[in-house]
Amino acid sequence: MRLGAVADDVTGACDLAGRVVEAGLPATVLFGAPDGERVFPSDDDGCAVVALKIRTVSAEDAAAHAADAARRLLAADASLLYQKYCSTFDSTPRGNIGPIGDAIASVVGGAVTVGTPATPGSARTQYAGTLFVDGVPLAESPLRDHPLTPMRDSNVVRLLAPQTRADVSLVRWEDVQQGPEHVARLVGEGHVLTDGLTERDLDTIAASVLRLAGERAVIAAGAAGVGTALARVAVQGSASRPSVQLPAVPPAGRLILAGSASAATREQLDTFRGEKHLLDPFALAEGEAELDRLRSILSARRHNPVPALVAVRGGVARVQSELGPERAAQLIESAFAELARFAVHELGTSHLIVAGGETSGAVVTGLGIRRLLVGAQAAPGVPWTLGHAEGRPVALLLKSGNFGGATLFNDAWETAP
Ligand code: ADP
Repeated sequence: MRLGAVADDVTGACDLAGRVVEAGLPATVLFGAPDGERVFPSDDDGCAVVALKIRTVSAEDAAAHAADAARRLLAADASLLYQKYCSTFDSTPRGNIGPIGDAIASVVGGAVTVGTPATPGSARTQYAGTLFVDGVPLAESPLRDHPLTPMRDSNVVRLLAPQTRADVSLVRWEDVQQGPEHVARLVGEGHVLTDGLTERDLDTIAASVLRLAGERAVIAAGAAGVGTALARVAVQGSASRPSVQLPAVPPAGRLILAGSASAATREQLDTFRGEKHLLDPFALAEGEAELDRLRSILSARRHNPVPALVAVRGGVARVQSELGPERAAQLIESAFAELARFAVHELGTSHLIVAGGETSGAVVTGLGIRRLLVGAQAAPGVPWTLGHAEGRPVALLLKSGNFGGATLFNDAWETAP
């Protein structure tokens, strides 16, 4: 199978790719729409994930970028396309899950999309159309008050319907228990959301998508769960499991850039056993001095074997109200992009952990990385990857703010290439 995925954000792309690799299918993450370069990790099979940044842009832009990526994945001989969205269905009545699904479907000639946000490995499950996050209905979870995509309904059919003109329907858990053939028979047109509580349910859904793909135009859709199941089903019975071992990256300095203000990242910062250097958003707004200060700290400790860590000084509410949320995000993200560029290109830093989806996008762009090879996971959904920045190999761990256990910043190095 050559699974071509379009992911609506960078850490979501790494999440999918890391789990697919663990299931035994090699994977790459590509930034921007692939163009003329190697897309799939091997000639025979594998998964290519195009990492876009379209979760919260306008629906029109999201659709255009997704369609472009889908066309190029098809041109690279993808055998099945995958719409990767967030396991907490992050979207608003305007989009962008519906518009992205419609755009990819139109590239494949009006295909039906089939899948679910359910990802039991991350405690996301779906029953009777209701999405549960750690056992709590989505609209009663902390996602209720997400700053950009507040989730005030838990039913994924009701959430998706206003985002598309296509039909939206549900395949219930009881039907999933009847097996892939039965599920395939229930799939109509438009967008079909399937319940799923266990990995076994997702295997059934994946098998029904692969069955449908032999008969009609179909796109798989969902969070990392369905994609992982597709990889599992595809490698079943194949003779050799490909190695997930990345080539070793010669150690030359470790850096953690934490631009996320999420609860899990805050815990990881508290537990980190090294010096923490704080980036002050107000000082950043004043001029270059703040970045100069951090650049000289990184230079001074370049030979220190303990990883350096830069995080944002707290007080998000005050920073956002005084600088404006967009200006604050832009200042902080471009500061992290510059620190990553300085560390890798000027100091030769070889190993980098980045916390935060938007932050990771900014860092990868700042480093000029176009493609990541995906290796073993340091935590579920958080794989080590290998990229090339101006020809030099860099090991990168890009994690969504809320991923990883409390000691990730201390322990992740043990699994690094
Ligand atoms: P996550 O994956 O946790 O959502 P992101 O990197 O995607 O993390 O998003 C966090 C956003 O919040 C970034 O744009 C970052 O610049 C911004 N941010 C982080 N800390 C602060 C802070 N103290 N004040 C204002 N904005 C912040």
